[in-house]
Amino acid sequence: MVNKDGFNICGKALEEKLEQKWGFSAFRPLQREAIEAALSGRDALVVLPTGGGKSLCYQLPAVCGIGLVVVISPLIALMDDQVTAARQIGLKAGALHSQTNEKSRKATFAELYNDKLELLYISPERLVGGGLLDLIRRNIGMFAVDEAHCVSHWGHEFRPEYRQLGGIFSDFPDTPRLALTATATPVVQKDICAQLGLRDPISLIGHPDRPNLVYRAFPRHDQTRQVIDVIKRHPGEGGIVYSQTRREVDRLALGLAKAGVSCAPYHAGLSANDRARAQDDFVHERLDVIVATIAFGMGIDRSNVRYVVHANTPKSIEHYQQESGRAGRDGDPAECVLFFSVSDLITHRALSLRDDGISPERRRALERNLNEIARYAISPVCRHRLLAEHFGKPYPPSDFPVQSTSEGCGACDVCLGETQALPDAEALLTSQKIISAVFRTESRFGATYVVKVLLGREDERILANGHSSLKVFGLMKDSTDAILRSWIDQLVVQGHLMVTEGEYPLLKITQSGLNLCRGQGTVRLGLPSPRLPKSGRRQKVSASVGSKPGDTGTPLFEKLRRLRLLFARKLAIPPYMVFPDSVLTSMSLLKPTNLQTLRQIKGIGDQKRDRYGSAFLEIIAGGDPDEVAEKFGGDFVCFKSSVS
Ligand code: ADP
Ligand code: ZN
Repeated sequence: MVNKDGFNICGKALEEKLEQKWGFSAFRPLQREAIEAALSGRDALVVLPTGGGKSLCYQLPAVCGIGLVVVISPLIALMDDQVTAARQIGLKAGALHSQTNEKSRKATFAELYNDKLELLYISPERLVGGGLLDLIRRNIGMFAVDEAHCVSHWGHEFRPEYRQLGGIFSDFPDTPRLALTATATPVVQKDICAQLGLRDPISLIGHPDRPNLVYRAFPRHDQTRQVIDVIKRHPGEGGIVYSQTRREVDRLALGLAKAGVSCAPYHAGLSANDRARAQDDFVHERLDVIVATIAFGMGIDRSNVRYVVHANTPKSIEHYQQESGRAGRDGDPAECVLFFSVSDLITHRALSLRDDGISPERRRALERNLNEIARYAISPVCRHRLLAEHFGKPYPPSDFPVQSTSEGCGACDVCLGETQALPDAEALLTSQKIISAVFRTESRFGATYVVKVLLGREDERILANGHSSLKVFGLMKDSTDAILRSWIDQLVVQGHLMVTEGEYPLLKITQSGLNLCRGQGTVRLGLPSPRLPKSGRRQKVSASVGSKPGDTGTPLFEKLRRLRLLFARKLAIPPYMVFPDSVLTSMSLLKPTNLQTLRQIKGIGDQKRDRYGSAFLEIIAGGDPDEVAEKFGGDFVCFKSSVS
C-alpha cells in the first residue's frame, strides 16, 4: 500500500500516466478522488453518469502498480470488448467468464500465475464459483465492482450472485473495494455500501447530467414516420431504436428497412445466433441502426452511438436514463428522442400484471415509475432539469458552465423552443373543452372517438350516436388529430382524465378533472412544434465536455473514418476502439503533419500513436484510405516509429 508520502509522489505521476496511456490532459470530475482513494487503500462508492469515465477509476490504479485489479461485472458480453479496448492503450488485461474460450482462458491463467496481469475482468459467478481466490490473492491490489446497483433489491437490475461478493471480500481485509454505478438513488447507494461491506467508504457522487446529449420528447402519432425523421438527421451514424414488444420491434424494423435504413431487429424471440450477429454488425459498424426491445443494450459498448430513439415509452425514468445513456458515451454530441403515448403505459401495466405474483408493493412502484416517466415526457419543462431533479440534483449544476439561463439548457426540445407551453389561461380553457367532450359523450368512448368529436368529423358512429349535434362537436376543429391526442394524454398523465383498463380503453373524468371544469386546480399543456431541426445535434457543447460540434461529414473526416473502418476490420475490433469519433474530428480540424502534433490530440496515447499515427498522417497529407490500409497491411508492428 502506498503511504502518505508515496501517495503524494503518485499524485503527480497520475497525470503523467493519464497523458501517456490515454492521451488525456485532465481528469474528469471525481476520477482523481476515486483513484486516490484506491491508492491510499480506502473503499469508495462512485456514482457517475454513463460516459463519466468510470473505467479509468480502476484502470489507472492498475498501471500505478497497485497490484492486480479485479473488475467484477455482470456484463459478460461486454467483457471481451473491455479487454480489447484496454489492450489497445497498452494495459495488460484479461477476462474470465462462462464464455471465455479455452485459449484465452489458458493465457489469462498463465498471466495471472506469472503476475503479468494488471486487470482481470471477471463475472460474479466465476469469482464466487471458487478455485480462483488463492491465485488472485498472490497479487491482488483492489476489487472494482462495476454496475454495483445490481447488488441491491432496490435497484432496477438485481443480480443474486452479487449478494455473495461481500462474503468473498471479507476474506481480503486489506484490499480496497471500489463500487461503481451510473444510477443509484440514495437508498440504493446505502444498500451497495452495506451489501459489499464497504468500510467507511468515501462517497463520490457525480452530477447525473449528460451535457453532450440533446433530449427531446414528443407525442407519438405516426411511429415509423417519426422514427425515420430522426434517423434521417444522422446519415451514416450509429443509432439505437427502442420499442416495447417483439412484435413492434419486427414491424418497425421492417418499416425502416423499407425506407432504406441499414438496420436489424433485436429481441429475445430471435435465436442467439441472430442476436449475436446483429450486435456484432452494429458494434463493427456494418449496420447503422438496431431496433430493439430493452433486451438489447446491456451488452453493448459502442461508444459512438449518436442517437437513441424510444419509439415507445420506457418503464421508468431509471430505465430511460440507462437506455438513452447509451448515446454519446464518447462525450461527443448525441441525441435522445422519446415518442410518448399513454397507450404504452397501458401495455406496461398489462405486461407486468401477466406476472401473477406481482406484490402490491411492486404494483405501487410500477405505477409510480410510469407516472414519473409520463410526466417527464409530457411536461413542457426543461428535460435536463427534470432528469437531474429526479436524481436529486439541482440543474444547472453549480460548477457547470451552461448557456445563459434565458435560453435554458440549450439542449432539449423545450429550451430550444420545439415544444412550447400554452399560457396558463389557454391551457385551462383547452382542458375544459376536452373534458366537456368526454362528459357530453358520457364517458363511454376512447380517445379516438373524442378527438373525432372535437374535430367535427362526421364519422358513421358519431352520426349514429347523434353526437354531431352536440355543442362540443367541432369545438376544436382548427386543431389536429396529433395535438388533440397529445393533450388528452397530457390530461391523463396529470390525473384530470383516466383511461380504463381492458380491451376497449375508455376515457373517464376524475375528480380533479371535474374541479378543473369549475376553474379549480392547475394544468399545464405543451404544444409540440410540427417541424424539427435538420440536425439533431446540440450546436454549442459545454466546455466541460471538451468536444466541438462535429466536423463530421467533411471529405477529410470521411476518409479518416474509412481508414479507421479498414483497420478495424483487419484487426477484427470495433472501429471506435481504433479511435473515437472525437479524435477523427480533431484530426480533420487540426490537420497535424507529424507524429508529435498528432500525439497532442486528446485521446491519442503513446501506443495508439505508435500503432496508427503514421497511417492517419498519410490520409491527412492527401492519401487514399484503401491504399494506405493496404500499404500498412495487417501487421501493426510496422507502425512503430519514434516521435518525429
Ligand atoms: P462509463 O464507464 O462511466 O460509462 P467510460 O469509462 O466508458 O465511461 O468512459 C467514457 C468515455 O470517456 C471514454 O471514451 C473514455 O475514454 C473517456 N474518458 C474517460 N476519462 C476521460 C478523461 N479524463 N478525459 C477525457 N476523456 C475521458
Ligand atoms: Zn432544457
